[in-house]
Order: sequence, then C-alpha cells, then structure tokens
Amino acid sequence: MFIDSHCHLDVEALDEQRDGLMKRCADVGIAGFLVPATTYKSWSKIASLAEHYPQWRVAYGLHPYFLNQAERSHIELLGEQSDASNALAVGEIGLDCWPGAIDLTLQMDFFRRQLSVSKSLHLPVILHTRKSEDLVLKCLRDIGVKEGGVVHAFNGSLEQAKRFVDLGFVLGIGGTVTYSRAKKAHRVLASLSSHSFVLETDSPDMPLSGFQGQVNTPLSIPMIAQHVASIRGESVEQIKMQTYNNLLSVFPRWNEDLF
Ligand SMILES: [Zn+2]
Repeated sequence: MFIDSHCHLDVEALDEQRDGLMKRCADVGIAGFLVPATTYKSWSKIASLAEHYPQWRVAYGLHPYFLNQAERSHIELLGEQSDASNALAVGEIGLDCWPGAIDLTLQMDFFRRQLSVSKSLHLPVILHTRKSEDLVLKCLRDIGVKEGGVVHAFNGSLEQAKRFVDLGFVLGIGGTVTYSRAKKAHRVLASLSSHSFVLETDSPDMPLSGFQGQVNTPLSIPMIAQHVASIRGESVEQIKMQTYNNLLSVFPRWNEDLF
C-alpha cells in the first residue's frame, strides 16, 4: 500500500472534496496519511477530522512560515495536545531561510523549544528545512533529539542527507523529483540508501510537473513513486514496499488503533 507521509488535508481548499478524495485514494491503494499541523488554529480541526478518518495519523506543531500567528504559550500546549490526540510526531516544525521568511532568531527560538517538547514526549519530528539544512542539523544535535523523524521535502546535498539519516531521520521525497530540471534532487535520490526515504505530496502544495497551478492531492503519490522508481532504476513495487517499511521504522506506532 501507498502512504502519503506529508499532506495538509485539513486545509479549507479540500473541505468540499475531502470525503470523495479519501474514497478515491482508498480505491487506488493510498491507504494512510500523515497530516502535520501548521498553526495553533489548525490543531482542533485536525484532531476532529482524525477521529472521522481512521486512515489519518497526525502531528501537532507550529510551522516556521506561520510564526506571525504563533505565541510562546502555544508551545506549552503542544505536549498536552499531542498526548490528548495520539500524535505520532511533533511537526511541522523547522527553519525557513528563504528571502522574506520570518526573523531567524524568532524561528530558532520556536524550533528549539518545540524540539525539546518532542524530546520530552519521546516523539519523532517532522522537519521543514528550506535552505536551512545545516542549521537544523545543528539544532537537532544541540537539543539531543533521539527519536528521528522525517525531513519533509528534502532538497539538500547527499552529504546533508547522510547526516540526517545518521540521526535517525528519513527523507521525504515528493513532487520536486518529477521536474526534469531538478538535476541535483535526481542525483541525490539515485544515491540514497533504500532505507532512507519515504513518499509525500505536501498537498495541497507542490504540484507535480505538468500540473502547476492545480490543487495537489495524495492521488499524486503513485506518479511520484513512478518517477522515484525510474530515477533509481527500481520497480514501483520495490519503492512502495521500501517506503512503507521505512515509514514504519520511523513511526513504529503507525498501525496501532489510535483514534
Ligand atoms: Zn508541509
């Protein structure tokens, strides 16, 4: 079965079509979804949707891109929320160093505090890294993060990939690899160990090549798997099996009845 290890299925853009979308996914064998939160406001919606969709797994966190909506008091509520709603991870958290991002000192403060929460809860982490891989690696080491997790939309070097894998992380591979111009991403993907990556869409964002401007959904997972298979010279079946096993290695509680 296919799993979408990173999709924002709680977004308003999917409100009308969520039920139908979940049915269509089931029909084509996309059987599990990890839905990470982005803002404090999104937590309660995700928690109630997860009770409705048994194939969902959830994580709570404060995304670095939306910290202008965040308060430090939200971090104190993160542990409580994660416990109460059977979160599998803390996320989406991280550092965003693209031009126009929020002040890095503020990002670092929220990131490090949320890493500490994940550590005290013994939960893996779902990482957002955008031009920030080395800094994120430093924070993980400083805090002593032990449970690993997923580096969502990994777009770093092979060297950085190995450092994340050494810390117990797997790399989230998504729509980027469907673009023929993404030569570096192709090279890194071709060289990764088969134990080190999972599939994701980042729905509703990160449309595949040829689908720009459209709402992305987990239905893109088989197409991403096809690209991954051809870049690595493996079969789609192999990719499906490896990525499922890799997911279970990071989230050992995935198949527990959580809701
Ligand atoms: Zn995301």
